[in-house]
Amino acid sequence: MIQLKQLTKKYGKGDKITDALTSLDLSIKKGEIFGVIGHSGAGKSTLIRCMNLLERPTSGEVWVNDVELTALNKQQLQHERRNIGMIFQHFNLLSSATVYDNIAFPLQLAHANKEHIHARVSELLALVDLEAHRDKYPSQLSGGQKQRVGIARALASDPQVLLCDEATSALDPQTTDSILKLLLDINKRFNLTIVLITHEMHVIQSICDRVAVIHQGGIIEQGPVTEVFLKPQHAVTRDFIRGEANVGDWIHTVGGNGTNGAFSQTVKITFLGEQTYDAILSRTAREIGVDFAILQGTISTIKDTPYGQLFVRIEGEADKINATIAEIASKGLDVEVID
Ligand code: ADP
Repeated sequence: MIQLKQLTKKYGKGDKITDALTSLDLSIKKGEIFGVIGHSGAGKSTLIRCMNLLERPTSGEVWVNDVELTALNKQQLQHERRNIGMIFQHFNLLSSATVYDNIAFPLQLAHANKEHIHARVSELLALVDLEAHRDKYPSQLSGGQKQRVGIARALASDPQVLLCDEATSALDPQTTDSILKLLLDINKRFNLTIVLITHEMHVIQSICDRVAVIHQGGIIEQGPVTEVFLKPQHAVTRDFIRGEANVGDWIHTVGGNGTNGAFSQTVKITFLGEQTYDAILSRTAREIGVDFAILQGTISTIKDTPYGQLFVRIEGEADKINATIAEIASKGLDVEVID
């Protein structure tokens, strides 16, 4: 659906050049919600703005729906852009236009007839649940309502792709969740491909299927959110996963002390899917004859998938501890021994 090939973007001239993107390759599939996460200055905005050529790359190719955007003339590009909706952190609404007119605006630009505009805007107002606010101006709306207008406007020309540029960063947590729910709903209903950039792991965890981590203008890690989230390979990725960064040190201080002089071993156990709710750990401990203490744990969901991640100290005889680790692993759980 979207393919970026060897995308490079440099800002400035001479000795004041900033390399915002460096030979970046990325491939996004039709119908998925793809998240790009990175710290401030990593290149997220530049990346997403290159996907509709709001920002023109210095070199490289931008393919959207089998069309290479950088090869198009102005008119062709204008036409292709109707296929690519976009929403923004600060909404970018027309302050002097009503909700209705803001949503109608792209259709008027495309010279749609009045009946079509009226029917489409009414449909969109219902979709984003703003029918009661159609005659209000942006200044009379809450942040969440403004973003709903932004979403309706972005969908007006029935695009196949929706680009979200930090779309929830200006909203409180509750409003963020309602906007994310709306995006997920739209994705499912219309099989709309959604690309979002964010600096919040929570946003990725809530709705994305796959994620890429961007750092200094390049992708350092990518994959299904469950994989990247539960087994982050890069220090920058670990930074985004709340609490994770400090767990190692803390576990060291409490992890080595088994009770009553018994051997002990601290392990990190990751459960995914339905296993999350099975009693594998306690059953195994009882059968083999070891004890365990849970030092830290999280049980949550990544999009629709339940997961658990526990730091556990297993106590008992050395060979029984090893047998326990082998048994848990044989049940398909991921077990990592913490030194
Ligand atoms: P992010 O969205 O992850 O914060 P950006 O894409 O905005 O990152 O910026 C990437 C890099 O490019 C940063 O070093 C930033 O300072 C620089 N940059 C972004 N826009 C411009 C611009 N218009 N002119 C010069 N430098 C820019």
